[in-house]
Amino acid sequence: MRSLIIGGGPAGLQASLDLADAGYDVYLVERYFSLGGHAVQIAKNYPNLTDIKDFMKPLMEKVYNHEKITVLTNAEVLSVDGEVGNFKVKVEKRPTYVNVEKCTDDACKKAMEVCPVEVPNEFNLGLFDKRKAIFIPFSYSVPYGCVIDEKSCLHFKDEGCSRCNEVCDGINFEEKREIVQIDDVGSIIVATGFDPFDPNLRPELAYDKYKNVITSLELERMLDENGPTKGKIIIDGKEPKSIVFAHCIGSRDKKVDNPYCSRICCMYTAKEAYMVKEKIPDATISVSYIDMRAFGKGCEQFYEEVQKKQVLYRRGVAAEIYGAGDQVVLRAEDTLLSNAYEFNADLIVLAVGVEPRSDSAELSKVLGLQIDDCGFFVEKSIYDTCETEKDGIFIAGCCQGPKDIQDSLMQGSAAAVKAIGVMKRCNN
Ligand SMILES: Cc1cc2nc3c(=O)[nH]c(=O)nc-3n(C[C@H](O)[C@H](O)[C@H](O)COP(=O)(O)OP(=O)(O)OC[C@H]3O[C@@H](n4cnc5c(N)ncnc54)[C@H](O)[C@@H]3O)c2cc1C
Ligand code: SF4
Ligand code: SF4
Repeated sequence: MRSLIIGGGPAGLQASLDLADAGYDVYLVERYFSLGGHAVQIAKNYPNLTDIKDFMKPLMEKVYNHEKITVLTNAEVLSVDGEVGNFKVKVEKRPTYVNVEKCTDDACKKAMEVCPVEVPNEFNLGLFDKRKAIFIPFSYSVPYGCVIDEKSCLHFKDEGCSRCNEVCDGINFEEKREIVQIDDVGSIIVATGFDPFDPNLRPELAYDKYKNVITSLELERMLDENGPTKGKIIIDGKEPKSIVFAHCIGSRDKKVDNPYCSRICCMYTAKEAYMVKEKIPDATISVSYIDMRAFGKGCEQFYEEVQKKQVLYRRGVAAEIYGAGDQVVLRAEDTLLSNAYEFNADLIVLAVGVEPRSDSAELSKVLGLQIDDCGFFVEKSIYDTCETEKDGIFIAGCCQGPKDIQDSLMQGSAAAVKAIGVMKRCNN
């Protein structure tokens, strides 16, 4: 009997590892080309400011190389039949057209050099750089090596190109989509994570109008020393000297159907403000917030540290952003004094909230699970947030509700224990 994990972010990785270490065979199905989830787009962790890479890279490698774990990347679950103790799962594994076993730094470099196609690099949110049609997903992707993105590769348009094939013998254009049938699946853990809120759903914030209005995840990519700007904060060729953060964008907001608090954005904003101040010591940094939620070990103390760095916190709900010359202006409503104020800035960072995956309703139908009004998977009880109404299917991480990496890992472990419990029960 084996376990199936859907999603290879922190929650799914931890669940896979705990099950495998307990002696169970695991299939881990990840939609993207690499394991890691959103966590690998983040530079440093709060509140201790450790590099996320130092934690995520070994975790991803341990899972990928574990003899009990079969990792299927670029793959998705198509159907689930059967019941607890004996689910039958059909998975679609899409081709990458590259045998990563044959990847070498030199061959990958040559293949990417000769490829004539450039498209925005989705790992860096399409904002900073381009990648080729043959590319390495990110600097520490697991599996590590090139993949071909079929949608932009010219070979699949009119067979007019095979340049990468001429410089690398790992390319195989004949690779086909596979359907992998996995039987005897005792338990399933869903760990499909979240989508960041799309700020275009609040057009009054003019996100798509001004280059100096960005999201917090875009700032994370800039703060990453190994990222597209090598850790430099550069907007339109210049270092910003005044930066404003706006909290609760797409959270605690009934107008966009997200009445809940996203839990992580108060703290990740504090972290980002701290890091920006370290990089640009003479910058003026302000944060417009509704109220501060700094729960979690060490978080309140870190928030105090951030304030000592001359980061100004002012109560306010972000209402509107407009341009003023080279600058942008945030108009916010002070909820205590019942008046409006404005912050002029070279850069405004929108602290976007956590949303369910846009396709969570479709996946819920495949699995026979319920989703709540917001689209998160529904837990069986408030006291047991891993179990669902469907015996043998568990949930972990942000697909159940917003949470940080620490809590996603813990819920992954908890789901693994529950999965072991039902598999033991079914074996007796
Ligand atoms: C700007 C920003 C900064 C942050 N900073 C911090 C921080 O400093 N510290 C911290 O603790 N947390 C931080 N977080 C939160 C952190 O990103 C999450 O807690 C964490 O990524 C949640 O892990 P997860 O495994 O639940 O989901 P995810 O990281 O979203 O991973 C889910 C995985 O499932 C895959 N998937 C989705 N659907 C399917 C499907 N149908 N089939 C197969 N695979 C699928 C995805 O491709 C992905 O790999 C931050 C978040 C943001 C937006
Ligand atoms: S075949 Fe595709 S991936 Fe290879 S070089 Fe041509 S366009 Fe790029
Ligand atoms: S964590 Fe903070 S910024 Fe995020 S939704 Fe909650 S109150 Fe707003």
